[in-house]
Amino acid sequence: MSTSPAHMSEARRYSQLRAHLSYLKLNDAFEALPRVLDQARGENLSLTAALERLLEIEVEATESRRLAARERFACLPEPWTLSDFDFSAQPGVDEKLIRDLATLRFLDDASNVLFVGPPGVGKTMLSVALGRAAVDAGHRVYFTTAAELAAKCHKAALEGRWKTCMRFFAGPRLLIIDELGYLPLPEDGASALFQVINQRYLKSSTILSTNVGIADWASAFGDATVAAAMLDRLLHRAAVVGIDGPSYRLRHHQNHADSLRQGVNARVS
Ligand code: ADP
Ligand code: MG
Repeated sequence: MSTSPAHMSEARRYSQLRAHLSYLKLNDAFEALPRVLDQARGENLSLTAALERLLEIEVEATESRRLAARERFACLPEPWTLSDFDFSAQPGVDEKLIRDLATLRFLDDASNVLFVGPPGVGKTMLSVALGRAAVDAGHRVYFTTAAELAAKCHKAALEGRWKTCMRFFAGPRLLIIDELGYLPLPEDGASALFQVINQRYLKSSTILSTNVGIADWASAFGDATVAAAMLDRLLHRAAVVGIDGPSYRLRHHQNHADSLRQGVNARVS
């Protein structure tokens, strides 16, 4: 855009200002311009205050667009946050450790988090809650299951996109791999998982949830060497959260069954 001469008419100047905002794709500031100019006149705002108000509108809109894009990319399966987690229902979980992880300090030194425990104890919930905190803090997060990761890598290998696929899994600042061990991984799945873990090692954090105790990884992977190498990378810098309490899912069933039974007993007696 050309520089504006001092004698330019006010109408011309206003239309140039609109053109500048539009050229720079500051669409929200463009929309807000008449309103902010009205406010500037009505409230007798200084030039600095009026400019700040206009640009604040653009910054807020950009932030919320970026947040929405990070949320879409992350594929978190539920809207869970840490405040949804009932620590009293799972006294074995170290609340202080989880709250420390929620500060996201672990991302700074590329530490990993391992949730180990039987089904229904809140492994996915805690992983998602940490993922959500990271998304909100501006980080790129991606959630997947071990089976899905293996399938994606397998397909990519067949289609000659192996490198792109590895680059994709290296990208996120936080990668969450859920449900390792629920389904047996095919041989190339275990090796794909190892490569993903290996290329992220010391660079970016991974959260991994599994129902397989660390001592049993060798048999779960069918290949003791791959299992040992993977554990070596994962555990070098890691918080291991073992959750062995009762299943929260079954607890609800249990409560339901108990209240049904009490109801029946009350009617019978
Ligand atoms: P896992 O991944 O260990 O199998 P999930 O995280 O999927 O378990 O939890 C199973 C269900 O129980 C989910 O609906 C989850 O919201 C709920 N849940 C588990 N633990 C807790 C908890 N401590 N507080 C509140 N809800 C919980
Ligand atoms: Mg789960």
